[in-house]
Amino acid sequence: MHITSAEILCVGTELLMGDVVNTNAAVIAKELAALGINVYHQTVVGDNPGRLTEALHLAFSRSDLVITTGGLGPTYDDLTKEIIAQYFGRKLVFHEESWRRIEAYFSRLQCSFTQNNRKQAMMPEGCTVFENRCGTAPGCALEGNGKMAIMLPGPPREMKPMLLEQALPYIRKDSDTHLVSRNLHFFGIGESALEQRLHDMMVEAVNPTIAPYAKTGEVMLRVTAQVRDGEDPASLLEPVVDRIKEEAGQYLYSETDGELQSALVHLLRDKGLTAATAESCTGGLVAKRITEVSGASQVFQCGMVTYSNEMKEKMLGVSRETLNTYSAVSPETAGEMAAGARRFSGADLAVAVTGNAGPEPSEGKPVGLVYVAVDSSWHKEVLELNLNRRDGDARELIRYLASSHALHLLLRTAQKYPGASEISKEQEAQAIG
Ligand code: ATP
Repeated sequence: MHITSAEILCVGTELLMGDVVNTNAAVIAKELAALGINVYHQTVVGDNPGRLTEALHLAFSRSDLVITTGGLGPTYDDLTKEIIAQYFGRKLVFHEESWRRIEAYFSRLQCSFTQNNRKQAMMPEGCTVFENRCGTAPGCALEGNGKMAIMLPGPPREMKPMLLEQALPYIRKDSDTHLVSRNLHFFGIGESALEQRLHDMMVEAVNPTIAPYAKTGEVMLRVTAQVRDGEDPASLLEPVVDRIKEEAGQYLYSETDGELQSALVHLLRDKGLTAATAESCTGGLVAKRITEVSGASQVFQCGMVTYSNEMKEKMLGVSRETLNTYSAVSPETAGEMAAGARRFSGADLAVAVTGNAGPEPSEGKPVGLVYVAVDSSWHKEVLELNLNRRDGDARELIRYLASSHALHLLLRTAQKYPGASEISKEQEAQAIG
């Protein structure tokens, strides 16, 4: 079946009441946009049979494909399958295989199930069942009269894998193309600023499409091409990727690793470099993020958490004069912390973070003022950051963003590494001079 337009119908009274944010709709809409399928409407409807029927009829009156989430559970108010089966004139029938999977799921968790769990194994006649790897409620697809319904569970951790692994391939099953994507990872530019730079390109893009995905302090762009058999994906993807790099290349940190820490560990490993950290306001978060990456032991020497001035002096050799004259939150202290961590560890490069994560100003330093310094034989730099975002838990956000800047500064510095031979030539020249 050829699909031109789709609609998302999210079922759940908790969504209407504002108890739960409708993240499912955003995830599905992004994925459909990447497939080049237009989504013209999104609807939220409560667990009410009359209103759900009405919403479904309206959705199919204007779209070929309707994707629903929620209402697949075992209780009396979970009605999505029943209402959609009715729309297509089908009965619900017991699906043996789904029931076996539900039983196995409960026995793995060592908990008992009730008879109403059998309701989850009742599926519309003639549907294609989607297995639920992360929960009990199976999803499914149902087609008839040029219309397609896709039913997905409500919990995002169940919905997303089912969407990506089963529903999207199902939607594309009659297509004579396959999808090839390139992911570009950016740091230091917000989603809206990046979109502004690439606006015309993103609006015009048909094949490939460009979809942004934002997470705290970072943005990923996924460039997706629909490729015909025998066609070279690079011929479609490369010109667009090159144009993106022209517009925003200075913020691009990786084309392979989706996290700063993994990009850093892999780069250090490739260049044969080691790193160390000295942290104050981030309390070890930079070291934690580096050591999350497997293989970190090859490149990470040590992380020192020096919270008090006394420890900054004792462990890192920051001078008392610097601390008294400029205070702990200063570019001078950050620079000396990084130099001290490098001296102590013998690592090739060291990063230091010192700042005020709040909630109150301290020693006249405003909340969110953070200094991040890097020290190496080929590059030294201190960044002054103002990370106060004034929303939610500002302290945690400031600490997280500060740790991201530290990882990024290490990454940028490692990228600048001129090579061991260049460094020893320089050292030789200095010794002779
Ligand atoms: P279950 O088998 O867990 O009952 P279900 O398919 O019946 O799954 P619902 O009961 O409708 O799903 O929703 C379960 C939970 O999933 C909700 O309480 C909510 O936390 C989350 N959820 C549902 N819909 C959405 C949505 N659109 N966006 C984000 N979260 C959602």
